[in-house]
Amino acid sequence: MKAALKTAEGTFSIEQVDRPILPNSNFVLARVKVAGICGTDLRHWKKAEPELECHITGHELAGEVVEVGDEVTNVEPGDRVVIETVMGDGVCEYCRIQRYNVCEHLYDVRTQYVSRAYAEFVAGPAEKFYKLPDHVSFEEASLIDTLSVCLHAQHLSGLGINDKVAILGAGPIGLGQLLLAKASGADVIISDVVDSALELAKELGADEVVNSAREDPVERAKAFSGGRGVDIVFECAGGDFMPTTLPQATKAVRRAGKVVVIGGFDKGETSIPLEWQRMQMSEIELILCASFAMHGIYHEQGMVLDMIAKGRIDVKKLITHRFGLDDINEAFDTAQNKHETGAVFVAIEI
Ligand SMILES: [Zn+2]
Repeated sequence: MKAALKTAEGTFSIEQVDRPILPNSNFVLARVKVAGICGTDLRHWKKAEPELECHITGHELAGEVVEVGDEVTNVEPGDRVVIETVMGDGVCEYCRIQRYNVCEHLYDVRTQYVSRAYAEFVAGPAEKFYKLPDHVSFEEASLIDTLSVCLHAQHLSGLGINDKVAILGAGPIGLGQLLLAKASGADVIISDVVDSALELAKELGADEVVNSAREDPVERAKAFSGGRGVDIVFECAGGDFMPTTLPQATKAVRRAGKVVVIGGFDKGETSIPLEWQRMQMSEIELILCASFAMHGIYHEQGMVLDMIAKGRIDVKKLITHRFGLDDINEAFDTAQNKHETGAVFVAIEI
């Protein structure tokens, strides 16, 4: 099959590789149709990472089932599906209580199986395949992973109707957080440094938008909440922005409010100075999020699919660009240079 393999420089090379086989009777093989590019993928773009060299990556994908093992009952060949790529070892104490997003072996297991979106075929355990209703497109389905990260963060935040919310960062995660917060009846102010992203945020229902290159998002968030600070701040920028946005988040939140960190950090120790004494004395809650898993008896990924199917959230406008697998390097450049390209979610048709 055709696959995009990571090169030594952190770009991609299109190669022919073996198609994955079903390792046991509970596995499913699917033909990938659409894969996406998210912030996490971009943090690895053009970075030399020897452990990823010659590997297939990508973790937002939808496709069509082509083969199922004997014991599989939830999907059959021909079914259109979205594939969940958060997958633990299935045996540790966290996996046993379905908090597989914090499984110690998450990264190793998921990259061995389901986190291989940039290729023609993918295989994984049947429970990770969710059948799509006919009216949900592969493109929309490729955003379910991103929105599930947002839903998990919203669940951890305890967001309620009429809450005042600030979102820092209007990439796919920030805009996904906006869609969910608005669907839940919150008032939302969102900031970014890219004007085209803020224009889209307005279209998606943001009550106020702030270009933080020109205006102070902390002051705007305070003004938005009667001078008090907002109930919840979602940090959705991550990476190189974190030394700026994390302190902003702790200042834009009200006393006893919540700062929810969804944006990613790089490996190793990070030192970002924060006003720990003030944060402690005002009992600001700092909530760190990682991927998604279950909410009570429901899979968060299944919940997002259900919300898209019902029209409760409309993710179509987040998809700004489309490329073929052969042009994956151009796709990544486009996603990264969003100041010039206006990219939000870049879809790769495979
Ligand atoms: Zn585990």
